[in-house]
Amino acid sequence: MNPAEATTRLCLECGLCCDGVLFSDVELQPGDDARQLRALGLPVAVKRGTRAVQRFPQPCAALCADNRCRIYDDRPARCREFECGVLKEVIADRLDTGAALRLIHQARQRAKRVRELLRQLGDQEEHLPLGTRFRQARRCFENGAADAAAAELFGELTLAVHQLNVLTHERFYTREGGAAAPPSATGGS
Ligand code: SF4
Repeated sequence: MNPAEATTRLCLECGLCCDGVLFSDVELQPGDDARQLRALGLPVAVKRGTRAVQRFPQPCAALCADNRCRIYDDRPARCREFECGVLKEVIADRLDTGAALRLIHQARQRAKRVRELLRQLGDQEEHLPLGTRFRQARRCFENGAADAAAAELFGELTLAVHQLNVLTHERFYTREGGAAAPPSATGGS
């Protein structure tokens, strides 16, 4: 299947690389116009860590409810270039569309379960990436702030995050150029 056809068929059913499930933020690349992207509504900021880079957070401010990108024609380089493992397999004709859609559905269901459990634990911070929300819940639990019911929910949450991560690491993340897989729901960043 050609890339444009595969993207239309799969990505509009998915959105996992934009909604805070696969990534916590996106780094700008040389050639990206930070000022223009800010004017388009992306909250680009310099995040200081091991090196200062301009990034914008996920879930993406330009992601629409129907999984379309509000700034598609002007989206940054990373967003133009990224193809997850499932999309790559379909483009290479190693996976049929039906199987790809089933994987996407399964991953979305697992992410939904994680969000439900976070809400039950009192986390309403839907604007944050899933990994950040899970780490906040874990800190709360490790600080001894959880009663028995919350501890049980946290156990269910840990299992749900693990199940999501197994699927995303097996099928969605890629190792381009030998680079390490990006952070996921339980990972860093
Ligand atoms: S995770 Fe893959 S299939 Fe889903 S929107 Fe991103 S590129 Fe498309």
